Amino acid sequence: MNRKEVLTILDQYGYEAKKSLGQNFLCNDDVIGEILDLAQLDKTMTCLEIGPGLGALSERAVLQAGKFLAVEIDTRFEDRLKKVIRDNGGEVIFMDYLSFSKQDLPDPSFDPQVILSNLPYYVMTPIMLKVLKDFPNCRKMIFMVEEEALDRIFARPGTKQYGPLSVLTDLFGKKRKCLTVDSGSFYPSPKTTSAVIEIEAGTVSGMWDPAWIAFVESAFALRRKTLVNSLSSGGEYSKDSILTALKEMKLNETVRSEQLLPQDLVRLYEILHERKDKELWHTNV
Ligand code: SAM
Repeated sequence: MNRKEVLTILDQYGYEAKKSLGQNFLCNDDVIGEILDLAQLDKTMTCLEIGPGLGALSERAVLQAGKFLAVEIDTRFEDRLKKVIRDNGGEVIFMDYLSFSKQDLPDPSFDPQVILSNLPYYVMTPIMLKVLKDFPNCRKMIFMVEEEALDRIFARPGTKQYGPLSVLTDLFGKKRKCLTVDSGSFYPSPKTTSAVIEIEAGTVSGMWDPAWIAFVESAFALRRKTLVNSLSSGGEYSKDSILTALKEMKLNETVRSEQLLPQDLVRLYEILHERKDKELWHTNV
């Protein structure tokens, strides 16, 4: 899809791009092609797209994948997406992905191996964290992000940007920046440069569940406080149990979450949960 085609579709359906929904439509066939090359979809595969918009990625992905589902917040695009997705054997649901739950799936067995999104930048982080929570079996995620968000995604421990996004994407598998995309590749053009990143799943451990993701979010919830205060403020873990776990890990009780390596957070979670299970066990006896 090029700029002329985007303008024609907008005109034909009487749509206008909504800034409040982060609508910057891809209009560069080379970039679209590169994203789909990265996805390497085939008929054995299941693909989810978040925010299909006018269908720049969907129109090709739906033909390449065995099963294709898109989640789009803007109901104005229904006619266009019916033509691009539903008429080609895919499915689209109209809702805010942040409110999405597995019950909204048209097919309960739908479990995407590939997730694609030219992310709406105003909700980039919550969408990425929710995808990591919702689809632990996904093998590959390809996201278009604002280039400045790369600092947060690739942040190392000890830096200001280090947080749930860097920790969770790090532990999910291998991540890499694949290409830089200039603002002229979108209509309307955003103010910033964008980048495509790929996250390929490693071996996801059994603990990869919503409680683990919530634990990491809670560890960074109060960034100016110590890890003990941040983690205990959520009410899930007592200060005493966190302090005992830190002692077992030979970590100072004033440690802050950004000083912990992703593997330290995994260890802390494991210790806290073993302990929690034991407490429960003793209470039940
Ligand atoms: N995929 C299209 C493309 O590449 O041209 C559109 C990308 S545009 C940057 C972001 C898309 O996400 C828009 O279609 C917008 O309506 C949609 N969107 C925004 N917020 C959303 C949300 N919370 N849940 C689902 N879709 C959302």
